[in-house]
Amino acid sequence: MAYAAPLPISAERPLSIPVREIAPWALFAFTLAAVVVYFVGFEQGTLAIFSSDYMHEFVHDARHLAGLPCH
Ligand SMILES: [Zn+2]
Repeated sequence: MAYAAPLPISAERPLSIPVREIAPWALFAFTLAAVVVYFVGFEQGTLAIFSSDYMHEFVHDARHLAGLPCH
């Protein structure tokens, strides 16, 4: 009967990422998420950036999926 050799226990410490390196990416992700939330949830009526209903219709299913009132 053959036994597998035990794996060596790694003494490495967990990788730490400085906040200074994460902050720009976190800001970018937050901004991108805010833009998506705006277009899905608020691009309609007086808050609309585009005068046509194209953007509203483009995200219409996501709007209903999020449970936002629509029509
Ligand atoms: Zn709708």
